[in-house]
Amino acid sequence: MPTYDVAVLGGGPGGYVAALRAAKRGAKTCCIEAGLIGGVCLNVGCIPTKAMLHASEIFHHIVRAAEYGFTAPKPAVDGPAYMKRVASVTAGLRKGVEGLLKGRKVDVIRGRGRLAARDTLLVETDAGPQEVKAKAIILATGARPAKPPFCPWDCGRVWTTDQATTAPDLPQSIVVVGGGVIGCEFATAYAELGIKTTVVEMLDRLVANIDNDASKAIAKSLDKRGVTVRTGKRIVGMKATDSGIAAELEGGEIIQASHALVAAGRLPNTEGLGLEAVGVKLEGRIIKVDARCRTSVEGIYAIGDAAETRQYAHLASRMGVVAADNATGHPALDPRTVVPVGVYTHPEVATVGLSEAEAAGTGKKVRVARFSYLASGMARAYGDTEGQVKLIAEEEIGEILGAVVIGQHATDVVQGIALAMANELTVEELAATIHPHPTFVEGVMEAAEAWLGFAVHGGS
Ligand SMILES: Cc1cc2nc3c(=O)[nH]c(=O)nc-3n(C[C@H](O)[C@H](O)[C@H](O)COP(=O)(O)OP(=O)(O)OC[C@H]3O[C@@H](n4cnc5c(N)ncnc54)[C@H](O)[C@@H]3O)c2cc1C
Repeated sequence: MPTYDVAVLGGGPGGYVAALRAAKRGAKTCCIEAGLIGGVCLNVGCIPTKAMLHASEIFHHIVRAAEYGFTAPKPAVDGPAYMKRVASVTAGLRKGVEGLLKGRKVDVIRGRGRLAARDTLLVETDAGPQEVKAKAIILATGARPAKPPFCPWDCGRVWTTDQATTAPDLPQSIVVVGGGVIGCEFATAYAELGIKTTVVEMLDRLVANIDNDASKAIAKSLDKRGVTVRTGKRIVGMKATDSGIAAELEGGEIIQASHALVAAGRLPNTEGLGLEAVGVKLEGRIIKVDARCRTSVEGIYAIGDAAETRQYAHLASRMGVVAADNATGHPALDPRTVVPVGVYTHPEVATVGLSEAEAAGTGKKVRVARFSYLASGMARAYGDTEGQVKLIAEEEIGEILGAVVIGQHATDVVQGIALAMANELTVEELAATIHPHPTFVEGVMEAAEAWLGFAVHGGS
């Protein structure tokens, strides 16, 4: 029976990063994976959706060629070629991660594993069950799409995100169930290609868990792209038809489409792992961990979507580093407080820290400043002036409480504010930091200057 210093269960962005870190720390490490190395993020999540969104944006720009001074024939979409490119992007990255694991001498064990004892995993491999012993175990089993019972799953035209990211072709039309981050990203990618898209969201606004300005910007963007949005509506039934599916909304409205994409939440993979038998405690559906990613059982750690309700790849990876350090005798803490969030709609939206409403609820005296992309030289050069940087800070000392960035490159722009927050810089220090020109990131400096009452280019 192989014995390891560290065994990682799951090879997603949490698990493979943990395995690489543990190996770098000199630990004899294995990574057990039931599916594809790279997990959800690389294979059916972050990466394929961004490959789709980027391709769709290019198509959208070609359609707008005249605005940039070109004449171009009306472009046509080649669905299989579009999806083939997505597959080649993920395959290339997967190969890269497999190479990294090999290079660091991490043993990759293919199969589904579960805890058999505090220091033992039992893995069902193609060659039969295999026991793996380890001084420390890191659980990184991630999450899977929720599959509401009202959908005719067997008809082949109802997709989860797993199918939508790996389908051989694009849908002719689609109803997206769920107007959260993932649903809105898919809706953007499809609508920009001219695919008739409807989003149904039971809450009263899209991406309801983010700042209201951001949510409004996403709604506006989808509207501009011709997406039909039904908020405050629940789907009560769905059936397969000769040409696709028919979804029934409460109130009786029927939406027909060639396909449905269900993006209505993700469930942590915490069942069937032998947690109860070994004494690993859950908190709701996720594994309970502390700031060192330790579970209730000594020597067992948990990270990523299996142990966090905020399901982000970068958070899973960070937890992977922290768990691997602690598991190899290098104490590491991660309070997980400053976590930037990206929504890759067009325009992009990114947030960090508290929303304006949440900041107001802290009881602190809060001041908000904005810098509009309309006044950004770079946004003008791009011909895409939709957006703003909104800075939310405490009035007295200028403690940055949060930010919302909407517009081109928002998911990159927000990182400067995240860095400032993580290092407890004030608005004044942010404003005094020289930002390169022309860039989208200088909007951060402009918003900080506006917050201080010294707006240069018209922040407010
Ligand atoms: C469509 C979509 C788009 C997304 N876009 C973004 C984005 O832009 N940015 C972002 O930050 N996040 C995004 N996410 C979320 C992100 O993918 C997840 O937060 C991230 O993948 C979680 O990483 P993880 O390592 O915890 O788990 P996962 O990536 O889920 O990996 C877990 C791995 O464990 C394996 N596994 C599970 N159980 C076992 C077992 N018993 N034995 C062996 N192996 C097992 C699984 O096969 C899987 O490979 C997106 C998700 C989706 C679905």
